[in-house]
Amino acid sequence: MSAPNHPEQQRRSRLVVLAGPTAVGKGTVAAAVRDSHPDVWISVSATTRAPRPGEVDGVHYHFVSDDEFDRMVADDDLLEWAVVHKAARYGTPRGPVEQALRAGRPSMLEIDLQGARQVRRTMPDALFVFLKPPSWDELVRRLVGRGTETEEERERRLVTAREELAAEPEFDVTIVNHEVRAAADDLVTLMMLRTASTSWSSTAPSAPDRSTPTTPSSARACWSTSVRSWRPTCRRSRSRSRCARSTRTS
Ligand code: 5GP
Repeated sequence: MSAPNHPEQQRRSRLVVLAGPTAVGKGTVAAAVRDSHPDVWISVSATTRAPRPGEVDGVHYHFVSDDEFDRMVADDDLLEWAVVHKAARYGTPRGPVEQALRAGRPSMLEIDLQGARQVRRTMPDALFVFLKPPSWDELVRRLVGRGTETEEERERRLVTAREELAAEPEFDVTIVNHEVRAAADDLVTLMMLRTASTSWSSTAPSAPDRSTPTTPSSARACWSTSVRSWRPTCRRSRSRSRCARSTRTS
């Protein structure tokens, strides 16, 4: 894959879309990125769900009424939106994303699988990162442990989580969230490389796999937080590249 020349493509290439199943830690990882790298712009979504204790309007979400969300959809104010966990609507306000990209900032959306698929259609040059739990049991433990959902809501989220985990091959890169700090650091590394260039195999940091010959047009790097190495082993399958699964070795 060669670096894009068109300015619009360069702007788009700075967008990272982070998705993954419920309770995998997307929000926590995004917050860790924000804390350590204020230069990274992270979208604040609109949602019709009620705020949880401690959540601040305009910081964690824009908490809006159903009517207001309807208006945003009708006015095409949302880059993508979806009903998540069959419970509430969530959407990415379009204006701030376009502004951040125009300003050349490395930018990130933290959204669900349905939203990621929509962005894939409108901004195919974005980098799609799948955040994955170390195991199914660990995912359940995290969901139960955070204690923010009722039993019924937890069950519903776990059904969605199974579907979302199955979608991992649709993504460009997988990060296994063993530990928040490491996952956030890996995400930032990816974003900075993405900002510098979209030529993944030629911009990866010194790592054993760099010497592995890759065809730029047919390969993207895979990043594993567990082995902490680049794995340029992706194969392009139809229109998407498929990345080798991260294998836990530590
Ligand atoms: P929560 O209610 O736990 O904050 O979020 C539920 C789910 O909604 C998470 O998977 C989160 O990634 C997703 N989500 C948050 N904001 C957006 C958004 O703007 N668009 C979409 N499609 N999903 C979102």
